[in-house]
Amino acid sequence: MRADQLASYLAQLQQQQRYRSRLVVEGPQGVTVSIANKAHLNFCSNDYLGLAAHPDLITALQRGADQYGVGSGASHLINGHSSAHHALEEELAEFVQRPRALLFSTGYMANLGVMTALLEKGDHVFEDRLNHASLLDGGLLSQARLQRYAHNDAQALHGKLAASQAHTKLVASDGVFSMDGDIAAVSQLAQVCHQHAAWLMIDDAHGFGVLGKSGRGTLEAQQLTPDDVPILMGTLGKAIGTFGAFIAGSEELIETLIQRARSYIYTTAMPAAIAEATRVSLRLLTTEAWRREKLQQNIQRFRQLASSAGLPLMDSQTAIQPVMLGEVGRTVAASVQLRQRGILISAIRPPTVPEGTARLRITLSSLHESAHIDRLIDELQHVCKA
Ligand SMILES: *Cc1c(COP(=O)(O)O)cnc(C)c1O
Repeated sequence: MRADQLASYLAQLQQQQRYRSRLVVEGPQGVTVSIANKAHLNFCSNDYLGLAAHPDLITALQRGADQYGVGSGASHLINGHSSAHHALEEELAEFVQRPRALLFSTGYMANLGVMTALLEKGDHVFEDRLNHASLLDGGLLSQARLQRYAHNDAQALHGKLAASQAHTKLVASDGVFSMDGDIAAVSQLAQVCHQHAAWLMIDDAHGFGVLGKSGRGTLEAQQLTPDDVPILMGTLGKAIGTFGAFIAGSEELIETLIQRARSYIYTTAMPAAIAEATRVSLRLLTTEAWRREKLQQNIQRFRQLASSAGLPLMDSQTAIQPVMLGEVGRTVAASVQLRQRGILISAIRPPTVPEGTARLRITLSSLHESAHIDRLIDELQHVCKA
């Protein structure tokens, strides 16, 4: 677009109700968040375990800043890789029971890094149709041929893999699909990948910390080994409550990423104090299993009440509980109306989701109490009937 086209582009978005704007939040994440000096009941944060503003994390961050300062000063390969980063990598690897883990500054960069490091022109990458944008962008940037398979359909994937003559094949899927909340059939994907000697990479942004008895994520919940899924990506900005991401896998995989992943090499290391806070969060995952249990109870309560109320739920057992309204105008209006009533829920619309599937994306947290969920159901009934 040329400079003289931007104004009409923006006007058109506004007309189509696709114009995006930001809320200005005045304090920490929690059950309520303050916007325009008004408390809003929060149903759109990815802080699933209520750790983002936990006092122990805040103290760890402050101590980390005392010890390491604020900026890391350089990339990991120059001299930005501190003992805090190193310890966190070792603890993450141990937690997910893999030989090594490598920190990235964001999940977006981790996905770009893996795909560009392992794939090149002539290779093939296969992605679930509903994968997160960062996996799709990684596939495009890698210059491999990108093929999308029908959502969560291992049989469709099998057909595409069988037809591929590429030297390197890589299959990538969300563990928990970020806009629908359903869980990937990873054991079936793993079987198909084994059969065709393809890499399998699972992006567990919404499963890590939450799913599985110990919070190790989608793979723990489905009892899968590193052999089944050689590349695991987890993010730290969601259930873990801090910032950043990691890739876990074999010694050779991680060393290859250190040599080749451009989104690892050519960027400043995350602040060491963030790594220190994340180490504390990892410990809380282990010692405070009640957070996962409470979240599960909240999910069950919400689904039960929403279903009795006749709300259009989707087939999700996770903390992501979309209410599918379909039409963009109706969805945006519902979200605005909810906000006026002090409830924060985001409207998700195309192009983030397919045409005709606009939805209210509700996320639950272990900080919600039964009364919050009851109020949510009342308010949803009110705006969805209107
Ligand atoms: C949030 C998210 C990411 C990106 O992680 P960031 O650390 O926020 O960059 C990647 N994949 C999925 C599925 C996500 O939901």
